[in-house]
Amino acid sequence: MNLSIQIFAALILSVVCGLLAGPASLPFITKWIAPVGTIFINLIKMMIVPVVFCSLIVGVTSLGGDSRKLGRISARTIALYLVTTAIAIIIGFAVAGVIQPGIGLEAVGKAAPKVKAAPTFMQVLVNMVPTNPVASMAKADILPVIIFSLFIGVAITKIDERGKLLMNFFDACAEVCYKVITMVMRFAPFGVFALLLPVVCKNGPKVLLPLLSVIACAAIGSILHCVFVYSSLASFGGGISPIKFFRGMSEAMMLAFTTCSSSGTLPVNMKNAQEKLGLSREVTSFVLPLGATINMDGTAIYMGVCTLFIANVFGVHLTMSDIIMVIFTGTLASIGTAGVPGAGLIMLAMVLQSVQLPLEGLALVAGIDRVLDMFRTTVNITGDVAVASVVDRSERKRLTNENAQVIK
Ligand code: ASP
Repeated sequence: MNLSIQIFAALILSVVCGLLAGPASLPFITKWIAPVGTIFINLIKMMIVPVVFCSLIVGVTSLGGDSRKLGRISARTIALYLVTTAIAIIIGFAVAGVIQPGIGLEAVGKAAPKVKAAPTFMQVLVNMVPTNPVASMAKADILPVIIFSLFIGVAITKIDERGKLLMNFFDACAEVCYKVITMVMRFAPFGVFALLLPVVCKNGPKVLLPLLSVIACAAIGSILHCVFVYSSLASFGGGISPIKFFRGMSEAMMLAFTTCSSSGTLPVNMKNAQEKLGLSREVTSFVLPLGATINMDGTAIYMGVCTLFIANVFGVHLTMSDIIMVIFTGTLASIGTAGVPGAGLIMLAMVLQSVQLPLEGLALVAGIDRVLDMFRTTVNITGDVAVASVVDRSERKRLTNENAQVIK
């Protein structure tokens, strides 16, 4: 059986078993089954830094030291990331505006999570540059690792023939990383089952029902964003039919849905983008790690939906300038946040604060955050590949044009 189908079957099985087992079995499941999920996550996480480091170096060296090309790819990627994120928040607001989640629901008196101030643009820039790359790797702090790998990659192209040796070395290392990921993914159906079972047991249908409208908004917003924005990007910009795109993405999307971690899904996402969608290693090895860190469209949809939901619960009317503020802070906050489970909740706190909404509302969302996180992470990683497909195609076109000119 195909791996995606196996993972999907594991997902369905975990929902059925979770509902049958109910919260009473939670202690048993937490003790004996959940650790299997943790082992699976750890296996994938173990590959994040090696795969980003090696394949980014390979990506940069294969640009042949062409820093103009690197600058062009970065500018295009970042612009597309920002635009799609802003569209995502708007979609979130629009869907929530129609469904109006939270009307008639009363807030619960749980303590709200602590709020961090939204990072300023300059702070984001400063934090990107590592003082100690090994420490950044140890903490799996991806942005500084990206910067470090870029420098190493460019430097390799600037030295004598020994640079070639290093290029081959890192190319082989990247290949080895992908092989390990293939091995780890065979274990995915078990990992997915073990990860989801406790979530279903704990949340069950009873707890989910009152908040179903928020979940529905997030799900509808995510589907709309995928269907309209990503299908268009992939087909018009990337030259890949939506069916091929989503089929190629299915394994990574399912993994993101269950692990709720863009960073954790990154190794699989990179491998599939190259092998199933045919995107170049040069582009994916740069665009995808960057996207897993700064491009969070799913989280942006969630922000739009949850801001309106909390405003409704507390009877606050949001003005147009509040909404623009949310779009602005939401887009900025997503840049500095790691692709790990639950990160969006903290980002939401920043956004709520920017429009003076009561942070107590977070407690409501926190109860179903894991379910919302499944949708947002799936969108987050899909958006990265959609943008990569556009950048990849434009680079290929450029190459063809350049070659044509040389022949002339
Ligand atoms: N879990 C999300 C991700 O990894 C981030 C978030 O919590 O919104 O992409």
